[in-house]
Amino acid sequence: MFPNIRIILVETYHPGNIGSVARAMKTMGLSQLYLVNPASFPHPEATQLAAGAEDLLSQAVVCNSLEEAVKDCALVIGASARLRQLALTNFTPRQAAEALQIESQKGEVALVFGRERSGLHNDELNYCTHQVSIDGNPNYSILNIAQAVQILCYEIFNAKQLTTLTSTHLNSKPSRKKTSQLPTLEAIQDFEAHLEKALAASGFLNGASDRALKELQNFFRRTHPSQHELGILRSLISRLEKQGHFYYQHANKTNQDTH
Ligand code: SAH
Repeated sequence: MFPNIRIILVETYHPGNIGSVARAMKTMGLSQLYLVNPASFPHPEATQLAAGAEDLLSQAVVCNSLEEAVKDCALVIGASARLRQLALTNFTPRQAAEALQIESQKGEVALVFGRERSGLHNDELNYCTHQVSIDGNPNYSILNIAQAVQILCYEIFNAKQLTTLTSTHLNSKPSRKKTSQLPTLEAIQDFEAHLEKALAASGFLNGASDRALKELQNFFRRTHPSQHELGILRSLISRLEKQGHFYYQHANKTNQDTH
């Protein structure tokens, strides 16, 4: 039912949890399971707890890093009990499910879950475009990973029913114009590298540079530019680079002429 929505588990320790996640996913019609460096997989406990969802385990994609698992995705939502990365927009489970449902009609999207003990690390949240948290008892809000997967997959399942009903009712396709499609993480990283190169060449990054660059990158990630807008930003940077190059050469030449 959801070929473009992948569930990613980062460094899951207990193989039984991987099996329970597969079961939770299958009950809600999801099938794409990605495992980043699982401690033990395949494992009999995973198979046992999958209880009829072994097909998801045998098709699971095992990756060496979160970057590898999400690089072709446009929307990457990190699930966290505590919202740690303040630069990212936070979703409720329902908002996350709606966003995944809508964006998955145009390309690959991901929902990422952290380790049982330490969750998602900050460097991993850097690969996320948004975060989601399931509200509960403020004094005890950390769920077992498979239960967190179950709740979010249930919301995805419901979001699909709603979108289908609404679109049948309105007799319209729930797709956005091509120009407003979200870029993949790879495209955003290319943009960030381009921006960094241009800022370094301009002298803007002299001195206390790292922080300013990080803040600019956070700003662009928070605004979620479309593919089209990212294209405009990149041609703008290229044009400024060319101008800068021209002035640099011109200034050098004038310097040489006067000496
Ligand atoms: N001790 C870890 C909790 C890990 S629980 C921590 O402090 O982060 C394993 C994973 O389940 C988490 O990384 C998260 O992806 C998911 N999870 C657990 N409770 C959640 C909640 N309330 N909201 C969203 N995700 C949750």
